Amino acid sequence: MITNCPLCDKHGNLFFQDDKHTFHECPNCKGIFRDREQLLNLNAERERYLHHKSDINDSGYYKFVSPIIKEVKNYFPKGNTGLDYGCGHTPVLSELLTREHYEMTVYDAVFFNEASVLKKKYDFIVCCEVMEHFYDPSFEFKLLYELLLANGKLICKTHLYDNKILFDKWYYKNDPSHVFIYQAETLIWIKNHFQFNDVKIDGRLITFSKYA
Ligand SMILES: [Zn+2]
Repeated sequence: MITNCPLCDKHGNLFFQDDKHTFHECPNCKGIFRDREQLLNLNAERERYLHHKSDINDSGYYKFVSPIIKEVKNYFPKGNTGLDYGCGHTPVLSELLTREHYEMTVYDAVFFNEASVLKKKYDFIVCCEVMEHFYDPSFEFKLLYELLLANGKLICKTHLYDNKILFDKWYYKNDPSHVFIYQAETLIWIKNHFQFNDVKIDGRLITFSKYA
């Protein structure tokens, strides 16, 4: 059993186990990660993501992504460039931001895997319900930091874990493609380690800032 934390490489301790799910918690960054033997292969992962619903005309979906859109509009003028990282099979968030007059680019490791978009830099990156799917969060956050221009922001949405949540009853762990779960301390660790200047946590909305 490999129990090294995929974010900081420290040895994790068994955190939760039932017949379907095994998670370890890292004592250093407080990340909670699925046992590597339970990670889906690419085909199963793709299959899983095809069930993720995203419809431009679905008001429920709009409500789901609207905190991200609001955050972008708060900080960035029209015409700025944005990357929708992990956009899924139907890049709805990117389309909504295009309608708000941002210059959007999409990337998805499974569905829109175009390496050239990772060679440019962007004013902001949106990452909606993506970071919990990171098999290698250390690689991903390093890349995301590098993809940002000075004064850029990485705007993410995920469901954080805290000890008020009963993990064994928690829906979020049941999705087999959810492999890395964050606590507030994990976000602070990420901010410090990857040298973001700030992290703001507002419920499920997380904004990392990179200053000049
Ligand atoms: Zn760790």
